[in-house]
Amino acid sequence: MAPGEFELIGRYFDRRGAAPGVRLGIGDDAAVLEPPAGRALVAALDTLVEGVHFPAGFAPADIGWRALAVNLSDLAAMGAEPLWALLGLTLPRAEPDWLEGFAEGFFELAGAHGVTLVGGDTTRGPLTVTVQLIGAVEPGRALRRAGARPGDLVCVSGTLGDAAAGLAALSQPAPSRRAAAQRLIERFRRPAPRVALGRALRGLASAAIDVSDGFAADLGHLCQASGVGASVDLSRLPLSDALSALHPGERAWPHALGGGDDYELLFTLPPEHAGALPELGAALGVSLSRVGEVEREPGLRLRGREGRPYVLEHAGYRHF
Ligand code: ADP
Ligand code: MG
Repeated sequence: MAPGEFELIGRYFDRRGAAPGVRLGIGDDAAVLEPPAGRALVAALDTLVEGVHFPAGFAPADIGWRALAVNLSDLAAMGAEPLWALLGLTLPRAEPDWLEGFAEGFFELAGAHGVTLVGGDTTRGPLTVTVQLIGAVEPGRALRRAGARPGDLVCVSGTLGDAAAGLAALSQPAPSRRAAAQRLIERFRRPAPRVALGRALRGLASAAIDVSDGFAADLGHLCQASGVGASVDLSRLPLSDALSALHPGERAWPHALGGGDDYELLFTLPPEHAGALPELGAALGVSLSRVGEVEREPGLRLRGREGRPYVLEHAGYRHF
């Protein structure tokens, strides 16, 4: 028999145990939380809708992982330390196997980042998952989209375009069995939010944003918030071997520029901090690439082969 609402919460989501700052967790009308002394709270919320943010039939453990990952990525982009999550779950039906899988993926990532689930809401309806994530940052030290100055370096972590190419591969009627395609699909399935990098960029980066809509669109957001523009040298875009295997040479660029869901960090670095980049990347085990420069003139200038202007057809996902 399918579990009732309270049984469901108790069985899959109520993991009691002492957690930092949690005076009262799941089970009452609301959670009671104690902010870390002397720090500002940082809050983010993201909703995933089946058929919009992930394909129908996506594995429940991947949905659980992803619902938290996208929020962790937002906190990473603020330089914040994640602490507590609230989970809004709308389900067409209460299927034990699905719930078990979902909880497994969610708590695997929550555990890796020290996040405690402190409450939520459970309703019936089309599959929709909302996570609210609360974290903390030292007052005045949050990374923001505003703050980039002309002459700063435009930098990005990891590789770009993998997740979008993975989603495309996944959506084929007969998904490719090639190892490269499988690696790209894995990047879409399990985004790795750059929380440690975000923390390390406090006091170094002049501005930051996470790459969720696509590199070009998100760089556009950062530039707009900062009142600047940027030029990007496309030959410097960090591309994975897997992406280049499926989309050789310049054919990878539209994926890297326009594909969303990478959840890498895009940040600007004052030139005097440029020297810190290699060490930082080595210490965190993530590649950090310098791909362009902030300029006074608004707008993005994408430079292809021999510095020629490059036009991107589809820049970023739009809901409306
Ligand atoms: P109320 O009707 O007062 O809103 P609920 O029945 O929605 O209470 O929730 C009871 C308790 O279970 C609350 O502490 C709530 O935060 C928690 N809760 C409900 N759904 C979830 C969920 N999906 N994940 C985690 N906690 C949940
Ligand atoms: Mg409720």
